[in-house]
Amino acid sequence: MNKKVLIIGSGLGALTAALRLHRRGYQVELLEKHHQPGGRLNQLKVGGYTFDMGPTFFSMTYEFDEFVKDAGIEMPFRFQQLDALYTVNFRGSERRFTIYRDLDRLAREFEGIESDFRNKMENFLQKAGRFFHDTEDLVIRRNFNSLWDYLLTLSRVPLKHSPLLIRTVWDEMVRHFESREVREIFSLVAFFLGATPFDTPGIYTILSYTELRHNGYHNVEGGMYQIVEGLKKELDKAGIPIHTNVEIVDFVEKGEDLQALVDQTGKHWQADIFLVNADAAVFRGRVFRRREFGEEKLKKMKWTLAPFTMYLGLDTQIPNLELHNYFLGNNFREYSNGIFKNSINLDKPYYYVNMVSRSNPLSAPPGHESMFILCPVPDLRFKPSWDDRQQVADGIVLDLSQRIGFDLKDHIVTQTVLTPLEWGQRFNLYQGSGLSLAHDLSQMGGLRPRNFDEKYRNVFYVGASTVPGTGLPMAVISSRLVVERIQKAYGPLHAQRAEV
Ligand SMILES: Cc1cc2nc3c(=O)[nH]c(=O)nc-3n(C[C@H](O)[C@H](O)[C@H](O)COP(=O)(O)OP(=O)(O)OC[C@H]3O[C@@H](n4cnc5c(N)ncnc54)[C@H](O)[C@@H]3O)c2cc1C
Repeated sequence: MNKKVLIIGSGLGALTAALRLHRRGYQVELLEKHHQPGGRLNQLKVGGYTFDMGPTFFSMTYEFDEFVKDAGIEMPFRFQQLDALYTVNFRGSERRFTIYRDLDRLAREFEGIESDFRNKMENFLQKAGRFFHDTEDLVIRRNFNSLWDYLLTLSRVPLKHSPLLIRTVWDEMVRHFESREVREIFSLVAFFLGATPFDTPGIYTILSYTELRHNGYHNVEGGMYQIVEGLKKELDKAGIPIHTNVEIVDFVEKGEDLQALVDQTGKHWQADIFLVNADAAVFRGRVFRRREFGEEKLKKMKWTLAPFTMYLGLDTQIPNLELHNYFLGNNFREYSNGIFKNSINLDKPYYYVNMVSRSNPLSAPPGHESMFILCPVPDLRFKPSWDDRQQVADGIVLDLSQRIGFDLKDHIVTQTVLTPLEWGQRFNLYQGSGLSLAHDLSQMGGLRPRNFDEKYRNVFYVGASTVPGTGLPMAVISSRLVVERIQKAYGPLHAQRAEV
């Protein structure tokens, strides 16, 4: 008998799970609060300029290869491997560092800054790489049925890696490198996880290994939203509808099962199986009203930094910027330690600039540029008001203008600013937190909200706040893991579309 799966949300985890389930014979339907699919992997079009709203690059492309094979489709978009990964600029210094994957070229960037850089980096990457390969299949790419199962799995991780659990990313930097510049640049990976190197476990130095050695970074031809558009075409072909502007706010249960979800208009949505792509902790707390995820509990959990994002359409070409650029200050530790609690000075922010039109020329009219700026800021628990949004935005434009020696202000044709308030409201992100639950030791693996429900047998979860974690490749793995669970619970269906 055909089983109907209702997916709540249309982020990457949802879209990939939908196609995997369809291949297995399930009837799938998606509900989405926003007016278009993609979740945080979304798109903004303003006055002739097009912007990717959130993600700008990703690693582990082989997870997408695994997905298309599993879903029985052709890759619906094309990756572009980044050659120079990004540049890093420090306040008050003319010197710009370009991060290359080629270690000889990279070493030249740090001549006169870090002695014996190449050997030190080689040692650092070898160590991170060994940890990555010893844990990728064992921990990252698998389900945990219980806490015991998780602990048992951890006990199989070679003991030599245990210091990485105790140390932070910053500790690892200090152990391997001496210069401030190298330590700060290669600990930026912690910010990619929405945290700081001082509170992120040393195991996440694996991100340096993935960026520099393993699979590198990629973006997508025509912009990151091509991922969503490509997947949407596949959903259309499969006859899987996405109902947009539908927000689930309530539920109806029947014994040990969930019978229906109720949207903001009171409409009941029934299905055999429910797959929640909305945040796995927030949905349990706010829709299912679970005590373990009540407001006080959510507040105490560790959440990632929130995004303050700007989307600028510019009427000229901008000099002195590459595709991906980081602008750091000269008070790294102080800034990192203050950022979560809002004791930083947003007059001198740390931010990332993506020149969208360099990789996607169609995103701006000829001779113009589209620019995306991301500044990680405290979530709404620590900075609830964004009345100063324009002031912060103006400050960033001024700072960037000074640092690239080009006055941007007179060239801005369109400017859209999203604070954690809008990010939170649009996608139901907890207090505007950009990357969902943080990845400290108490919120990883078997300790993260599970991808199956504690109460209802027919409810499952997919996405950044359940296993394995945040980021695009993790969302794709998350869909593999949850589909594995659903298939285990419901078995192969009669309407199986193909051998999977
Ligand atoms: C600014 C920013 C930059 C980022 N940059 C990168 C990057 O460069 N590389 C990278 O790999 N990752 C990046 N990420 C992270 C990445 O975007 C996410 O990890 C990933 O997209 C999350 O996918 P998901 O499956 O969890 O779904 P989400 O994107 O969280 O989507 C969930 C969907 O559920 C919907 N929803 C929520 N509640 C309800 C409800 N009650 N009813 C109906 N619908 C609901 C939401 O509207 C949303 O569309 C970035 C994130 C942000 C915010």
